[in-house]
Amino acid sequence: MKALVKARPEPGLWLQDVPEPTIGINDVLIRVLRTGICGTDVHIFDWNDWAKSTISVPMVIGHEFVGEIVEVGSNVNDFHPGEWVSGEGHVVCGRCRNCMAGLRHLCANTSGVGVNRPGCFAEFIALPMTNVWRHERGMDRDVAAIFDPFGNAVHTALTFDVLGEDVLITGAGPIGIMAAAVARHAGARYIVITDLNDYRLELARKVRVDLAVNARETSLKDVQKKLGMKEGFDVGMEMSGSPAAFRDMLNNMAHGGRIAILGIPSGEIAIDWHEVIFNMLTLKGIYGREMYETWYKMTVLLQSGLDIRPVITHRFSYKDFKEGFRVTASGNSGKVILNWEEL
Ligand code: NAD
Ligand code: ZN
Repeated sequence: MKALVKARPEPGLWLQDVPEPTIGINDVLIRVLRTGICGTDVHIFDWNDWAKSTISVPMVIGHEFVGEIVEVGSNVNDFHPGEWVSGEGHVVCGRCRNCMAGLRHLCANTSGVGVNRPGCFAEFIALPMTNVWRHERGMDRDVAAIFDPFGNAVHTALTFDVLGEDVLITGAGPIGIMAAAVARHAGARYIVITDLNDYRLELARKVRVDLAVNARETSLKDVQKKLGMKEGFDVGMEMSGSPAAFRDMLNNMAHGGRIAILGIPSGEIAIDWHEVIFNMLTLKGIYGREMYETWYKMTVLLQSGLDIRPVITHRFSYKDFKEGFRVTASGNSGKVILNWEEL
């Protein structure tokens, strides 16, 4: 089968013929239809320090996808060929304390699809049945392909109650924008999103934020004044990984404010802890999604009218993956989809 392989320990990605995966009794074999490109894939392409220390080559990469089941193992009773599914990208151990308590997203021993085990940038992927999420037939395939980052957005946006609250999102990448759409759907009062990139701020306006502001040009104090806010933001979602954005957020929270942190900084960040302590802030780190409450929420939020399609800006054949990666890395894009169906 065709697959995008990190074949050598150097920058790049190679379209190669590799053997089709085989399945065990508890696994599901899926023909991949559409995939999403994630920042993680770009890091692996670029071969940055994280990738060097994490990926063993050769590795088929990619973890955002929708596909059609073609075969199930003998122990699999509730998935069937022909069904459309996506995959949870963290394969958990099932045996650690948190897994045993049903808190699989807190597993101590996860293995990452397209990072530690073969991924979905390929014609086929095999996954344990415990990692498969079924879509209704007729579901928008591009939307289904990005359930993984959509899950990051839903998990972060619903971590703290946003009904009637004023929400600040730093970073209008695809995940920040989807989180804004979820917060709107969930009844937030004001939603302010910041970025340094005007293309992305324009994209964020499509999901009905109250203000999309360039942090280089407008201060959050001025934003608060403009909206008539008096005491600061109630809920923060850090989705940029930027130290400056995080400090700015801390400085603009209401007393008792709650911050969910998804953005991954490239190193340590020094903050003024007085702001956390004397303003009695709650900080919570977010990784991945909840298995499978977040997946359930994603499905029903879409059924109840949430629209995340504006965040998808580019579509390419997998054969044009280099262009897809270039557009993703440029920042002048939302989600970029690679199509694996016969073209
Ligand atoms: P992205 O890189 O596309 O978006 C980040 C955005 O932040 C960019 O648009 C960038 O211009 C903006 N930004 C940079 N500096 C800023 C500043 N000072 N103020 C405001 N905005 C600023 O990433 P994404 O795919 O949308 O993901 C969001 C973040 O979440 C990334 O840091 C990513 O690494 C991280 N992530 C975490 C998890 C997890 O499980 N914790 C999962 C996926 C992604
Ligand atoms: Zn575990």
